[in-house]
Amino acid sequence: MSGEFSLIDKYFAHKQQQRKDVVLAQGDDCAIVAPPADSHIAISTDTLVSGTHFLSDADPAWIAHKALASNISDLAAMGASPAWVSMGISLPEVNEPWLERFCSAFFSLADYYGIQLIGGDTTKGPLTITLTVQGTIPHGKALTRGGANSGDWIYVTGFLGDAKAGLDVILENNISADKAFNHELEKRHFKSTPRVLAGIALRDIASAAIDISDGLISDLGHILKRSNVGARIDVDLLPISSELMQFVNSLDIAKQYALTSGEEYELCFTVPEANRGQLETALSNTPFTCIGQITGTGNLDLHSNDQPLDWQLGGYDHFKVSQ
Ligand code: ADP
Ligand code: MG
Repeated sequence: MSGEFSLIDKYFAHKQQQRKDVVLAQGDDCAIVAPPADSHIAISTDTLVSGTHFLSDADPAWIAHKALASNISDLAAMGASPAWVSMGISLPEVNEPWLERFCSAFFSLADYYGIQLIGGDTTKGPLTITLTVQGTIPHGKALTRGGANSGDWIYVTGFLGDAKAGLDVILENNISADKAFNHELEKRHFKSTPRVLAGIALRDIASAAIDISDGLISDLGHILKRSNVGARIDVDLLPISSELMQFVNSLDIAKQYALTSGEEYELCFTVPEANRGQLETALSNTPFTCIGQITGTGNLDLHSNDQPLDWQLGGYDHFKVSQ
């Protein structure tokens, strides 16, 4: 795009303090990093497309937060420490106030997690942001989806369901809902907090982990499939915020939101009985809740008051809107 180099220099290059393990950042054909000798590198890529993952008139600060937070959440789910990020961005036009807000939010979140933007690509086209994050994990310590065993306890961090309620607010669904919490829930949709410290603390405790991006049922389903086990969830134990409860005004609907809400970026993880006692100290700064137990069958069963529930719950959809 015209003025590409000045645009990169002005907005994307060298806006952060250089990490010690970054040998060469933007400005050459490749970035060069020096990973720690005793670590593996975890790598993850996610793309956000205008009209699919956010509305085209969404606040650029929220778009930046969502793009980076969702990627960092993947690192958290593996127990990795965030280190480096690359950005492919396609912009329909050079809109400087938009870029300023986008970059300011991007770099403040990046600085908070100590992750450095080391390179990328900038082109003209429909608004799309692709980030590749990389993090370090000591050899053999990664939390995968495949380690859950029958008898392990199932936990989630934080509250579940708020991001779906936030999406209702944005899309003006559920118009009978209590409006008092609209702004707070909308913020929770965009401004999730990746559970990086929890992921690192769980390296020696959890048997499997995943971040909740498509909804608890769907994401826990990935653990069950990879680990070849089943699960029993007690829906009465699901962590539901008072804002969600008052927004939907029905405990059953709040529980169904908690089971299906995507883009929560909380962690779902499993812990063997022998490690349960260590959780309180390991996660002292992160709220977490036990919601059920891994079973030997391949099913995911929902229970309430010890009775099976036959709720038919769909997966999570992104925005169904055109640009
Ligand atoms: P090349 O022609 O070698 O692909 P570019 O002209 O695309 O290089 O980019 C010049 C430099 O700016 C590269 O070091 C690249 O990594 C960096 N860069 C380009 N776009 C971005 C971006 N959006 N964020 C961070 N760095 C970027
Ligand atoms: Mg390039």
